Amino acid sequence: MAQCIVGDRYEAHVPDTLDLAERMGLAINALTNVWHPEERYALAFNVEFSHRPPVRNINHLTDAYLNIPPKFIEALAVCRLASGSDQNLDTDAEVLRAQQSLLGDDGLTYCPTDTLPQLTGPRPFAEVWGEGRRLLALAMLAQVGDDPRWIETAQRKIDRLLALTREKQGFRFLWKGRFRPGETVPPDADEPVGSRQDGSLLDRYPDPKMSIIYSVGALGHGAGLVYRLTGYEPALELSRGLARWALARVFTDPDGRWDIYHFHHSLYALIAVCTYASVANDRAALERVDACYRWAREMGDPLIGYYSECMPGSDPYLERQGNTVETCEVADMVWLALSLTRAGIGDYWDDVDRWVRNVYAEAQILDADFLQSVPESYFTTEPATRLYQDTRDIAQRSVGSFFGWMRANDGLNVEQTEHGPKLRRGIMHCCTANGARTLYFVWDSMVTKQADEVRVNLLLNRASPWLDVDSYLPVEGKVILRIKDAPNVAVRMPAWCNPAQVGVRVAGQARRVLVEGQLVRIGWLQPGDEVALTFPVPERSLHRVIGEIPYKLVVRGSNVVSIDPAGVAYPLYAHQPSGTSVRRTRFLPQIRQIVW
Ligand SMILES: [Zn+2]
Repeated sequence: MAQCIVGDRYEAHVPDTLDLAERMGLAINALTNVWHPEERYALAFNVEFSHRPPVRNINHLTDAYLNIPPKFIEALAVCRLASGSDQNLDTDAEVLRAQQSLLGDDGLTYCPTDTLPQLTGPRPFAEVWGEGRRLLALAMLAQVGDDPRWIETAQRKIDRLLALTREKQGFRFLWKGRFRPGETVPPDADEPVGSRQDGSLLDRYPDPKMSIIYSVGALGHGAGLVYRLTGYEPALELSRGLARWALARVFTDPDGRWDIYHFHHSLYALIAVCTYASVANDRAALERVDACYRWAREMGDPLIGYYSECMPGSDPYLERQGNTVETCEVADMVWLALSLTRAGIGDYWDDVDRWVRNVYAEAQILDADFLQSVPESYFTTEPATRLYQDTRDIAQRSVGSFFGWMRANDGLNVEQTEHGPKLRRGIMHCCTANGARTLYFVWDSMVTKQADEVRVNLLLNRASPWLDVDSYLPVEGKVILRIKDAPNVAVRMPAWCNPAQVGVRVAGQARRVLVEGQLVRIGWLQPGDEVALTFPVPERSLHRVIGEIPYKLVVRGSNVVSIDPAGVAYPLYAHQPSGTSVRRTRFLPQIRQIVW
């Protein structure tokens, strides 16, 4: 990881508006503070703000060792790369060492047998979802260091996992998603039928589609990325076989509709299909993913990016008292929007712009002070009795995390009970990893170079090798481009902006530009030029029902600038950017290109 933070640093005056590199720097705090070194770096998954002081605990072996740590490793690599942060850098190496020690002789990663004795159940086991996430982490590690072990390990895993699948009707399936060392496919193995107790976390559900999306999701995504990076054919075979399984059993409707209550795991299986379709250039599969994305977009609030933990209309959704947002769903939708746009099948920049600026950015915990202003009666008086719980400075150690159960106006879910309003839970750290890593994918996509043209796709602050972007949105309709090496620039204006109304000045002189759709093209630029784009920012008030609760929103450009009623525990949209100029260190990593 040390190579991630090698790069150029320079001081600059930048507008005090959303800066994703800064947010990823903040995420490093959370990503490095969740570990239990005395338990072979087990990861503590839950944070409950319902207690004072907040309580964090380890939930089960799968999340502690298998499913979530590789997500954190992947997020650490990309967040260090974008931010240059060296906070707790030694922790990365310790976590990697502990994770490597869990690698079994057959290439799978097994939970340890000598730790956390209060967590019962047969050990050791490997979990399919964790194996997929580990492939993603290995692909990332291989790109930020020169250790050949990462790709070798990934290929061993692919070989082993491919051997655990069976072929049927043009796809590949897994009969279950949890494996003991040396386990082989039973001769009579067939597709899951549901309610399997010795299988993966999702094999236990009665609906066998839960098994399918879980087995396809991370593994299909990871195998597809390993193929994209290395060209290793068995990785493509695995990615294709699993994607076709999901297409045959889950994403069958040409209109994109599917019928599974778990929004995040469904979206993750869709990400796997999208990865396969992109690397294999399978147009029909990409079109199905696109239809599913457009259907899913309407299953929440596409204006602000409000996507709930349960799929709207499903039984678990209808049973809940208002439905809250899990950051994972928002991050998944953003990933799909970016990837479908990159694949040329749709133009979803405006979705990304609205979601990142609103629910996604608001989902990150920026400081620990909020707990001081929460009324005492909101906390439970019951003592916390979780296994392996920790109450040491949890709020501060959680800064940079992403919330798991948000309302439209509040980072924390305040439920009405017979004892009055009470805080419910707070963080599930799947969201911290997903939230942090997907910020990188947005940051990476914001400014791109295509042939001899530099594209500015999102009007957010960003340093890049070709130009730096200073964005005053939403405070002011003003964006400054500081040209380094970008003779030709195309700036994509948001849908609410008429590109014909954009004023462009280069080094203080008005410049005629070419407008093409939402793109404003500016040519003949020299290193050192300052390009100023100015434009009106519309503001509107609207009423909207979000998560079954009515709100009044004021929206400026793409940003919600106020919400009524306001939240009470962690009020969202409460800290609006000032747009004033502040002094910041900008960082440009030496590693310029990451395949993701
Ligand atoms: Zn989550």
